[in-house]
Amino acid sequence: MNNAVCGDCGANALQAFTEIEQFDYKGHTLCAEVDYSVCSKCGAEAILPDQIRRNDCRVRDAWRKADGMLTGEEIVALRAQLGLTQQQAAQYFGGGMNAFSKYERAEVVQSAAMDKLMRLALEKQPVHVPQWLSNHAGLHIGAPKAEYGNVIPFKPKSTPLPLIPSPIAEDYQELNHG
Ligand SMILES: [Zn+2]
Repeated sequence: MNNAVCGDCGANALQAFTEIEQFDYKGHTLCAEVDYSVCSKCGAEAILPDQIRRNDCRVRDAWRKADGMLTGEEIVALRAQLGLTQQQAAQYFGGGMNAFSKYERAEVVQSAAMDKLMRLALEKQPVHVPQWLSNHAGLHIGAPKAEYGNVIPFKPKSTPLPLIPSPIAEDYQELNHG
């Protein structure tokens, strides 16, 4: 129930409903909850701006699931495991100030590169990164040709973050599972 006014009859009688809708994505059928409103006086249906925003976020999360990417909820859990605030996460991984708030609310879908970086940060064992990236991409490539010394040296932009030590990645598998 909300207090929005019906655009058709002007009555203050819009009631909120939610239903599961199917939609196509890359040849798959996905499901997401969709919010909408019905006027209890004249029966007109409407989707209010707030409902559109929520619906869009659910659709983005369904896309992420279908693409094997971390969902908003999973990113929240990952960030908690790393002991980072949203702002620290943006510094830690890169991205704008509001990047994590947007990823977590599913306002924005993270890039595939960001998704990999986040998963990489949760690895418990020392990781051979080129190998890890090849495996995750399903590629079979040999050892990289460049020595680290040939690579442009990394220069930190700002002072290091005070990180809270955290037990890392105990339920990484679970997280991975969605
Ligand atoms: Zn109405």
